[in-house]
Amino acid sequence: MPVTSRTTLPRVEPVVPPTAWLFLSRDAATLPGMANGSTTTDTANAATPTQQTARRPALSPSRASDFKQCPLLYRFRAVDRLPEPPTKAQVRGTLVHSVLERLFGLPRADRTPERARELLRPTWSQLSEECPEWMELFSEENFDKELNQWLTSAEKLLDSYFKLEDPRRLDPEACELHVETELSSGVLLRGYIDRVDVAPTGEIRVVDYKTGAAPREIGEAKAMFQMKFYAVVLWRLRGIVPRQLKLMYLSDGQALAYTPDEPELARFERTLEAIWQAILRAGKTGDFRPNPSKLCGWCSHQALCPSFGGTPPEYPGWPEPDPGEESVLDRAD
Ligand code: SF4
Repeated sequence: MPVTSRTTLPRVEPVVPPTAWLFLSRDAATLPGMANGSTTTDTANAATPTQQTARRPALSPSRASDFKQCPLLYRFRAVDRLPEPPTKAQVRGTLVHSVLERLFGLPRADRTPERARELLRPTWSQLSEECPEWMELFSEENFDKELNQWLTSAEKLLDSYFKLEDPRRLDPEACELHVETELSSGVLLRGYIDRVDVAPTGEIRVVDYKTGAAPREIGEAKAMFQMKFYAVVLWRLRGIVPRQLKLMYLSDGQALAYTPDEPELARFERTLEAIWQAILRAGKTGDFRPNPSKLCGWCSHQALCPSFGGTPPEYPGWPEPDPGEESVLDRAD
């Protein structure tokens, strides 16, 4: 699948003047869950609570990207579901995403850098209560010092966000939007979108915040894959091709915008279907091959990988019901 690099983007922003994204049909402050960090849902086939407990296998952008990168990595994550120790950068990403979501739950006038900083520690308190194992990222001897340094680095990412846009000038339609749709081929796509903006004209902008520490050139193709995945889902859910896909890199204070078109999304949809078929074929036989690359440096499973002299555990069989689910850390890379 051709992946568009930053230097070859055919169309770049502003495709619509930024101020045109200010007005929305829904008030973000009234969206369910906006103030407490939960999510909203946009789904073609709303599931009943019973159906939700036994959801069909689905493809998520993270797992599709894993399979493309390395089928064995996909297996370790989606089939074996091997635990991966979180990194400080991943957890910091989750924290920053959560603060930004809460910020948009405030009245516009309150969405200031100072308020964002004020939200940081209470948000961390809540997250670390929900995931106490994250506290183990900091050594017992230097706990306070390390935590403070880490929180300061999160503050810098928030400051960087404010250099990219003024959140007092827009009301997102949704933050942390859970989306799910079934393609005509039967492939189920599922994911979480950081933010969806809708202009008064009905044009949709998909926004993703990137906070990761990995070099940007490594993550950029993956990020655009993820954004096109969301564009396909929204196109199929709402019948509208998103006008803009916007990546906001908070670590270096830069943004990248891309405008997809319908033929491109149709091609991308076929790519997703092909990936899912390849996953199902591998799932039947357990033949998930390693595909070593420079990205192995970020893989937690080298010790079990034949490319590094390891032996994978016995294949446990295709999991039901939900090998496509993403973790909260996947969603805040
Ligand atoms: S170490 Fe590399 S080749 Fe092996 S599973 Fe991880 S990503 Fe794949």
